[in-house]
Parts: sequence; structure tokens; C-alpha cells
Amino acid sequence: KDITIAIDGFSSTGKSTIAKLLAKSLGYVYVDSGAMYRAITYFAMKQGRISTEHFDRDGLISDLPNANVSFKFNDDLGFAEVYLNNENIEKNIRTLEVSNLVSTVAAVPEVRKQLVKIQKEIGKNKAVVMDGRDIGTVVFPDAELKIFMNASAQTRAMRRYNEIKNNGEAITFDAILENVQKRDHLDSTRKDSPLVKAEDAIEVDNSNISIEDQFQNILKLVNT
Ligand code: C5P
Repeated sequence: KDITIAIDGFSSTGKSTIAKLLAKSLGYVYVDSGAMYRAITYFAMKQGRISTEHFDRDGLISDLPNANVSFKFNDDLGFAEVYLNNENIEKNIRTLEVSNLVSTVAAVPEVRKQLVKIQKEIGKNKAVVMDGRDIGTVVFPDAELKIFMNASAQTRAMRRYNEIKNNGEAITFDAILENVQKRDHLDSTRKDSPLVKAEDAIEVDNSNISIEDQFQNILKLVNT
């Protein structure tokens, strides 16, 4: 039986790795909701609405109807890549610059409203695994399986560091640790849809467990 799987948690807890593995083995669609907030952030940067020095919140809100965020499945990669107005921006949204601004953009209720609508639409007639911060609480409150992932900040920053290093971006471990902690704080304290564990979510800490073991554990939950 097809179910909806919601995976939420703090930054870089390995949500997308587990979500992708689940989607692949179950034949479900994987949706990276964070990529959508990153896409709007990239859009706002290009429009000159946000930088490390300023944020023109009203300007961003008035630009929102011109930001069309969508996904297209990439057969080679085995997952969907994010597009902004039909341009593939998968690479542009993973920079530390976007990571440092995304939580500010994601705190704007108008941004959330626009993206949550698309997310609900994607999940309507499909079996999906979606990861993010408010999937089990806001996007799919009726999801049959909700996972809340956590790991120590050190572990998470190290994972992100290795990921970014492989992309060739020159960044220090400390800069990433700072970003992870800052985002956790902003995401958990914002007024609109803050990051919280859904009451019926299963909490898992993966600081000391391999991806493969965690994947097998969650797969068991799907099948029970
Ligand atoms: O998942 P990822 O780390 O790429 O998400 C980037 C940011 O997007 C998060 O730090 C958070 O500010 C925002 N986000 C959100 N709600 C979601 C997914 C992501 O607010 N469902």
C-alpha cells in the first residue's frame, strides 16, 4: 500500500540521503522541499532583494508571482532537480551564500504559503517521500509515517563539510558549523511554521549509526 512519508529535522541530519534511498526502494517520488526555499532565495538574490547586508522583504513578496519553482526528474541522477522559471538551478542553490540567507527567506509567510501549496499538490495523487522542516506538521499532517531526524551539530557540520568539499567550494569547517547552528536557531524560532517535531513523529538520532542501518530501520517501519 502506498503511503505518504514525511521526514523532518534539523539541518544536515541526512534527511535527503534517507529519503532518496526510501523513494528508490519503494518506487516513490522524492521531493526535496528545502530545494524550493533555496530556489526562492536564489531568485531573491538575483533580483537584488537579499544579500548579507540587506533584505527587501516587501520587494521579494511583490516579486513572488514571477518565481515559478518546479521539479524535473533526472533519469541519470535518479531524482528530481529543481528549476526556477524553467532553468535548472540545482547547482546554484547549494552554495554557502544561499545557505546563509535561506532561513531568512523561509521565515516569510508569503513564501511559505506559495511553496506549501505546490508541495501539497505534488503529494495529492502520488506516493511521496518529502523531506523538510514542516512536512509532518503543515504540509502532510495526515502522513502515515513521520520521521524526525537529529544528530549532533558536530556530526552534521562534518557531513555537510565533506559534501561541499566534493563540490569544490573552498569553505572552512567552522563556517559550516556556524551556518548549521544559525539555521537551526532561525528555523526553530520563526513565527510561521517553526521547526518542531510532529506529535506523532518517530524521533531518530543518527549521530552513531550508519546510513545503511538507519535506512533498514526505517524501511521496517514502512512495512509494518
Ligand atoms: O533542507 P535544506 O537544508 O536544504 O533547507 C534549507 C532551508 O530551507 C532550511 O534551513 C529552512 O530554513 C528552509 N526550509 C523550510 N521548510 C522546509 C524545508 C526547508 O523552512 N520544509
